[in-house]
Amino acid sequence: MHRLTQEVKAAALEIGFDAVAIARAEPLDVEFERYREWIDRGYHGTMSYMERNLESRHDVTHIVEGARSVIVLAKNYFTPHQHEADACGKIARYAWGDDYHVVLPPMLDQLCQRLEVLDPGSTSRRYTDTGPVLEKQWAVRAGLGWQGKNGNILRRDIGSWFFIAVVITTAELEPDEPMEDFCGTCTACIDACPTSAIVANSLVDATRCISYWTIEAKAEVEIPLPIAQNLDGWLFGCDVCQDVCPWNRFQTQTNETRFEPRLGQLSIEPDQILTLQPAEFTERFRHSPLKRPKLGGLQRNAKALKTSDE
Ligand code: SF4
Ligand code: SF4
Repeated sequence: MHRLTQEVKAAALEIGFDAVAIARAEPLDVEFERYREWIDRGYHGTMSYMERNLESRHDVTHIVEGARSVIVLAKNYFTPHQHEADACGKIARYAWGDDYHVVLPPMLDQLCQRLEVLDPGSTSRRYTDTGPVLEKQWAVRAGLGWQGKNGNILRRDIGSWFFIAVVITTAELEPDEPMEDFCGTCTACIDACPTSAIVANSLVDATRCISYWTIEAKAEVEIPLPIAQNLDGWLFGCDVCQDVCPWNRFQTQTNETRFEPRLGQLSIEPDQILTLQPAEFTERFRHSPLKRPKLGGLQRNAKALKTSDE
């Protein structure tokens, strides 16, 4: 088991992941209770898909029968650029380059193929924000990082600017120890959140979060006034609670060039978005996370930004 684990971890790093950790595929009892509570309080807003497939979220053997291990992977997306202090139309860092839903799956497929070779007869399934898997909770279980007060997973080497991916497998691998929590007495993220969305340690009320409103909320739903008035220049997503985090101060750069800003843009003027035609939108944002809210959603955000500016 030790040798197989080492080989799988080496394969993950060779494929291009920045960190890898392993958990036993046991039910997420405590974590799931907390998740249920979050849902019961309505903090997930209109993301109703989060209410579904609860058995799988609780226990990954509902996804892969006979699963023994969960491999949790990190892919750094940090590139050394910063928004101008007074920028309007800011895009969250994770969305500057190509969509991780495009970049990560082929890497995960490679890892699943390697697993098949290393442990013949094993079966594996991979996820990267693509199914009913509590990825952050698995990241904590596996010791990939700790969950910061802003809800993100953090590591001392690469901060929180990384995507998380998961491979659920029947291969029996050696689990890692959970990582110590290094937030300490810091509350920088809670203090800096423009909309007071971090309601308790590691607990974010999405219905107050700029990221939720500018990415997930349906285009036909207006951004509520208390949020719209505090958008702080964000057109798509929000990085405030990560920008202020001391663990993100000395971040290392990603080796994935597809995460470099498309057209060199870290922000887009609201007026440019408001005059964009559907065909142009489709062409310009192909393989970009910005296509998620559709043109209507981006234009809703741009309007809210302009109104809050007046
Ligand atoms: S993403 Fe922005 S709005 Fe959401 S919790 Fe973090 S700082 Fe607050
Ligand atoms: S800003 Fe401070 S409290 Fe928030 S996640 Fe980072 S270290 Fe933890």
